Amino acid sequence: MGCRERAAKSELLRIVAIEGVCAPDPSGTLPGRGAYVHPALVCLDLAVRRRAFPRAFRLQGPLDTAELRGHLETAETVAEQATP
Ligand SMILES: [Zn+2]
Repeated sequence: MGCRERAAKSELLRIVAIEGVCAPDPSGTLPGRGAYVHPALVCLDLAVRRRAFPRAFRLQGPLDTAELRGHLETAETVAEQATP
């Protein structure tokens, strides 16, 4: 979605919209329409700028991505710390 780079679904993070909030769904089990981005802030930011989430979820109006952002920030920090 965000950067439009091709990737296997297993490499992507599934996002669902719950009451106007974009929520990460790493296990892919939450119901509803899903959107897929790379688990990276840069990809999320691109998706937000392109208003890709409302389009993907077929919803009107803004979606809250703050929680999702926090999730990715944490994930990136963990990844950095895991790198020697
Ligand atoms: Zn991407």
